[in-house]
Amino acid sequence: MNQNILKGSLVGLLLLALTSIGLTMAQQRPTLTPEQLERLTIRPVPGKQGMYVMPGFDGALSGGNVAIRVTDEGVVIVDNKYSYSYEDIVRQVASVTDQPIRYVLNTHHHYDHAGSNASFITTAQVIGHENVRINMLRNQGPSASPEGAPRMTYNDKTTIHLGGAEVEAYHLGCGHTNGDSVILFTDQRTIHTGDLFIWGERMDGSTLAPFIDYDNGGCASDWVATLDQILALDFDTVIPGHGPLLRKPEIRIFRDKFEQMVSRIRAQINMGRSREDIVDDLDISDLNWPLSPDRIQAIYDELAQ
Ligand SMILES: [Zn+2]
Repeated sequence: MNQNILKGSLVGLLLLALTSIGLTMAQQRPTLTPEQLERLTIRPVPGKQGMYVMPGFDGALSGGNVAIRVTDEGVVIVDNKYSYSYEDIVRQVASVTDQPIRYVLNTHHHYDHAGSNASFITTAQVIGHENVRINMLRNQGPSASPEGAPRMTYNDKTTIHLGGAEVEAYHLGCGHTNGDSVILFTDQRTIHTGDLFIWGERMDGSTLAPFIDYDNGGCASDWVATLDQILALDFDTVIPGHGPLLRKPEIRIFRDKFEQMVSRIRAQINMGRSREDIVDDLDISDLNWPLSPDRIQAIYDELAQ
């Protein structure tokens, strides 16, 4: 074997090992300080009857936000953090109601949002877009859980009717993945956006920026149109995929930033810049989204097609 090929395959093996370690570590319960635990404790959504949130700020320490809708006939939750989060979610929901968790909706398949599906699936109906199921069955490995693939799927929309509440799940197009849903609690005018909309800082203080999961059908080209459809829904309170409780204007700001990012990359492509040049030429510093060069190049590759 030629020296370079040998070197290349060793580097490849090392990278593979590091990736696996990274993914495995992401599934291990972190040790949190009392202050961090307090930030992640279930709390009511102000002004919204029967609605709670178990806060989530990132895909590392805290997982995504969990929305909780309590009714007299049971509980609906949206997303469920990591595989190790199951007991914590059950315990925290039990601290606000005696009702059982009957329905678990997934905003998408990622392990910081749907990681506990496999535990919930034995006692609750786990529901997701058909591509959530397909992606979970396809992505075997330490960060994926095929056993958690939703047993009930939909294509464009589905509705849960429970205890007088209506919970609507909409698939509005591609964006973060090809299986994103936004969940609308119609009577409480509250929405969970999944990672189509994220906002603020991670637990470690770094800034959240949109992530396009190209390996799972994500796209930048339709993301703004998807956000426009979200904005057309009737709600006033927003639970983002990651971040604090917000309102409609923040989604508009995020949408406009995304549109700026896409149009500036398109402009570079139209000027004939290469995917190597674009990393130096593109100025999106005013958007305050720390996107790594490879992520910018991936968007370039999509838009240049
Ligand atoms: Zn995600």
